[in-house]
Amino acid sequence: MHNWLLRRAQLTPEQIALVEGVRSWTWADVAELAQRRASWLHTQYPAPRVALQATNSVETVLWLWGALTAGKTVALLNPRLSDGELAPLVSRMGVEAALPPLTWSESTHSAKSKVNPEWPTWELDDHATIMFTSGTTGAPKAVIHSFGNHWASATASALNLGIERDPAAWVCAVPLCHVSGLSMLIKSVLYGSTLHLLPRFDAGIANRLLLTGEAGYISVVPTMLKAMLKDLGHRQYPGSLRALLLGGSDVDPTLIAAAEAVGAPVIYSYGMTETASQIVAFPPGRRQEAPGASGLPLFSTEVRVRDERLEVRSPTVCVGFLDDPCAYAAAWTQDGWFRTNDVATIDAHGFVTVHARSTELIISGGENVYPSEVAAVLRTFPGVTEAVVVGIPDDRWGHVPAAMMASREVVDVDRLHRHCQARMAGFKVPRKLLLVDELPRLVSGKPDLLRIQRELSVHADVGQLVAMT
Ligand code: ATP
Ligand code: MG
Repeated sequence: MHNWLLRRAQLTPEQIALVEGVRSWTWADVAELAQRRASWLHTQYPAPRVALQATNSVETVLWLWGALTAGKTVALLNPRLSDGELAPLVSRMGVEAALPPLTWSESTHSAKSKVNPEWPTWELDDHATIMFTSGTTGAPKAVIHSFGNHWASATASALNLGIERDPAAWVCAVPLCHVSGLSMLIKSVLYGSTLHLLPRFDAGIANRLLLTGEAGYISVVPTMLKAMLKDLGHRQYPGSLRALLLGGSDVDPTLIAAAEAVGAPVIYSYGMTETASQIVAFPPGRRQEAPGASGLPLFSTEVRVRDERLEVRSPTVCVGFLDDPCAYAAAWTQDGWFRTNDVATIDAHGFVTVHARSTELIISGGENVYPSEVAAVLRTFPGVTEAVVVGIPDDRWGHVPAAMMASREVVDVDRLHRHCQARMAGFKVPRKLLLVDELPRLVSGKPDLLRIQRELSVHADVGQLVAMT
């Protein structure tokens, strides 16, 4: 394939590619600035892989495209990691230094660097990027994506959303070091849509961009959507908001309903880093047909359920994991399906429902307890704003459910207990409850399940712990 950025700059050079605060860059600008960096890398840095401190900034975008243009594989690192945490990751990837280089400055290099017109073309199988999974279940895995993976993911998402002549702008308020952010960056080049880059999520700024019609798409995780609805107050989203993509973890259906009530066309989806983003999503307007489900498979994606786990076959499924043959072997079946480790069901119409990760599934006295189902009941209790349920070890039952919860009001634990008992089987009712002001979260915005589990099973350093038996 021809370099996507250079092709985009050839097709729509004068259109706005990027907006950051009050500054903006056309595709021609981005191509020029990225090629300067490509030239620099080409002459100064022979290694085939580079690591990039992926802050949500224009520099990240320019170095990413620059490095890809120079034919390098780019590892996107979480910029919030400390030097001590970064060092082993960088050495594991066989790169010497992380970009942007300290010695780089636009003014000194712009004059010297000569644009090389002979940049390599990209093979679909070439390794484009390496990024880490969120680390919800343990040490993050380094996932290798090919150009073909990104291409397939971006086109499949476009085919689901609908093809537009003049694509509306996207708001990127999710981290570029995660697949949610990276996939948006790739879409912007392939679709030719403007990307409004937010250094960090800000509900007020996101809403302003959507309310003024400056942007028509945004991708969020549930906590971000909650903050946006709170900031929105009594206002309504305009018709120029084409889609609000929501995913990352299971979502309280009342949150989706609340967003739809204020005019947000929610596209709920399920996906993972290893599949370069979405696996299933709801096509616009079809959520009512299966309100508890996660959606339908995207074009070019096949799904099946084996041993209760969802398995996927798709050109979006990653090449593999960096230096981790065990993880590789465990993740693929003999006949080439990728095992997600998420417990799921597929109904007669093909709608996929994701219930839990297999590791999250709580087996209590031989009964299966789906944490998402218990959390959904807790969230119906007045005042509760957030609830996460995990399994904790128990001498008698093997594991029992326990919950971490945030509430606007003082929680009457007896009433909550009765509320749960009236709505679910006894073995599903959480035994322990930890009341906190805010749930601990990972960089991707998802609840930090390992920490929550630790707090609930060992001792609680945060919040107020109560027994619910
Ligand atoms: P790690 O693999 O490092 O433990 P992680 O699985 O959280 O972390 P990601 O790749 O960011 O890392 O997240 C993908 C996972 O998120 C999915 O496998 C699934 O468990 C969960 N998930 C994503 N979207 C949804 C959804 N709509 N409903 C339920 N779960 C979801
Ligand atoms: Mg995972």
